[in-house]
Amino acid sequence: GIAFDRVNKWYGQMHVLQDVTFSVAPGEKIVVCGPSGSGKSTMIRCINRLEEHQAGTIRVGGVEVNDQRRNIEQVRRRVGMVFQNFNLYPHLTILENCTLAQRWVRGTPRAEAEARAMRYLERVRIPDQARKYPGQLSGGQQQRVAIARSLCMEPEIMLFDEPTSALDPELVREVLDTMVSLAEEGMTMICVTHEMGFARQVADRVIFMDRGRIVESAAPEDFFSNPQEERSRLFLSQIL
Ligand code: ATP
Ligand code: MG
Repeated sequence: GIAFDRVNKWYGQMHVLQDVTFSVAPGEKIVVCGPSGSGKSTMIRCINRLEEHQAGTIRVGGVEVNDQRRNIEQVRRRVGMVFQNFNLYPHLTILENCTLAQRWVRGTPRAEAEARAMRYLERVRIPDQARKYPGQLSGGQQQRVAIARSLCMEPEIMLFDEPTSALDPELVREVLDTMVSLAEEGMTMICVTHEMGFARQVADRVIFMDRGRIVESAAPEDFFSNPQEERSRLFLSQIL
């Protein structure tokens, strides 16, 4: 699991995470939402130390992410991340995108890496695209490749940062379906998303952030039908 304990982060004078405390048990699914600039991306990027926090602690599977140089590799191995803009390597095929980290980070032999890549490409239902390049795929297909590529590292936790917000509306569903099936298989997930249907369907808890703070944390049925905070109500009235 993941545990944040009074995590604080500043960019210069700007206090972007303020006493953020929450934990995610193994198998739990959390949806994070909130206005632009509220700190959602910063918060999840601190988990695998794409950003560093300055105070408080973040533990992943009991390991403190800010501890020592060698620990972060332990953490990164456990945590997969999928971004808004896919971040595939454009000059590598889909199969190569899915084998690169396996081969160079984990030292997996080529044949084994390719077999695993094909298994996960089947799971996201695009094994037939393996020899193509990212630019030859739709956005939804590229995002499913990005998910498969993460899964190839066999993470215990998956982080999603607005994985569908760069997609044309008709492609959103296929990516959400992939995420739903991952959730059903028991993956621990933190998803920054404004897809409230997805939140209702899979989230154990919705966390609402505003100005660097967790303002509300509730089961989706409570959050949507009866938000406790004025800021949550305002936000929901704008997106629903
Ligand atoms: P969005 O919904 O637009 O993605 P967000 O909730 O993910 O927003 P963050 O990207 O985490 O918000 O940003 C939180 C705050 O930190 C914002 O005020 C942002 O301008 C600021 N910020 C983010 N990254 C940096 C950076 N590298 N340097 C300085 N300020 C930054
Ligand atoms: Mg963001």
